[in-house]
Amino acid sequence: MRLLVRNGTLVSENGLVEADILCIDGIIAATYEHGREVSADETIDATGKLIFPGFIDPHVHSRDPGHTHKETFERSTLGALCGGLTTILEMPNAVPAVSTVEIFEERRAHHEKSAWVDFGLWGLALGPENDAEIPKMFDAGAVGVKFFWGYALDKETKSLIYNFAAAPPESLLLPPENGEVLAMFETVARTGGVLAAHCEDRHVLASSAKALGHPIRTYDDLLAARPAVAEAVSIAVGAQFAKATGCRFHVVHMASEEGATVVREARAAGIPVTAETCPQYLTLTADDAVELGPLIKVYPPVRHQSDQDTLWAAIQDGNIASIGSDHAPHLVAEKMAGFEEAPAGGLGVETMVPLLVDAMIAGKITPERLAEVLSSTTASIYGIYPRKGSLQLGTDADMTIIDPAGTTVIRNEDMHALNPVTTWDGWELRGSVSASVIRGQVAMRDGFPVGERRGIFIPANHSIPGHELENELVTAEAP
Ligand SMILES: [Zn+2]
Repeated sequence: MRLLVRNGTLVSENGLVEADILCIDGIIAATYEHGREVSADETIDATGKLIFPGFIDPHVHSRDPGHTHKETFERSTLGALCGGLTTILEMPNAVPAVSTVEIFEERRAHHEKSAWVDFGLWGLALGPENDAEIPKMFDAGAVGVKFFWGYALDKETKSLIYNFAAAPPESLLLPPENGEVLAMFETVARTGGVLAAHCEDRHVLASSAKALGHPIRTYDDLLAARPAVAEAVSIAVGAQFAKATGCRFHVVHMASEEGATVVREARAAGIPVTAETCPQYLTLTADDAVELGPLIKVYPPVRHQSDQDTLWAAIQDGNIASIGSDHAPHLVAEKMAGFEEAPAGGLGVETMVPLLVDAMIAGKITPERLAEVLSSTTASIYGIYPRKGSLQLGTDADMTIIDPAGTTVIRNEDMHALNPVTTWDGWELRGSVSASVIRGQVAMRDGFPVGERRGIFIPANHSIPGHELENELVTAEAP
């Protein structure tokens, strides 16, 4: 099978290159100057389009198995496909959580049946409880381990519990103490893998909620109960553990100026810390809570314009390495329960690329930088580069083809999620996702799937160097 993508502009961290690109049997086989006669079974005309290495969402909670009334892997990966992603990395906190290699293998087999895009799997890091499983999960291909810092675990269901004060203590695995967290960093350091954490210090949160003196009624109350200093403190502790152990530490869904400042300082000191942010922190502010109500509720919370500006600056200067959606659906009725009761999280997998393409056209991020934060650097952090996240010869022929002249309107009724209510309903965006190619086959056109489901499991290998070491966009002559 030969697929030729003609007349487009290839984008990588090294720049924009006018070239045709030939895929043979799922692999990138050659690139040519425009206009060369090349035989192919199928041709895409990409005149005026930007061809990115297939975009990756490293932060997806598909709720499957366990909470399939909220979302399913089939729906989340279909949304991912239609929204311009070619690979997603699935978080470990479905039920049961992925805390052993046995559950990891079960989860892989379960998701292989319903994946519309390629996928990698996260493992869960619990501290002493599953220390011995962490190297095994990396051996099985985990893209990273996630530490839900401050959360307890239900012994029976193995589901994460945030507000555990009210639960009977004998039913819980309590969050590890910092000494145990340090030991967890040592374990991950020995594997060469990455440890990612939800960073909001639970003691700061508990005191802040108490100081508020009453239940959370408004969005301002929510922000008072979850101050930015909680994020900064956790990141600072994690950075010191990374420094002490050499473990790669990744801050997921970073939301605040205070957090970004700690990351910047740690990186400047040579500590192996990277950070992710999400479209909600880059496009919304607390002011949007007036219109959105509890639909805007995510942890950490969306803050102020100054935070958003700092996060964009950190994307531009490299202190934020990656962007993930934190797709974390709930029932609409659950989300409408008020700022105190509503669970945190919302849709994201289908809107991330359109929102960031609009930001690119607005000049907030260059195409080269977008290729890094959504493809090459993300793939490097998670041990799937250069198979994913590059347009190098010999790698998986995954591409996201963007039309900068197009337009996109986000509408609830177009969402593929099981509970299709998005914070961005009605947003009119510049640019559109015109097609996606997964391993050499056209998988999506104009927001609609093409052909059968074809997603496969992608095992990570953390011994392969990332793109900072090996970042050539290879152009070559015809085979
Ligand atoms: Zn998350």
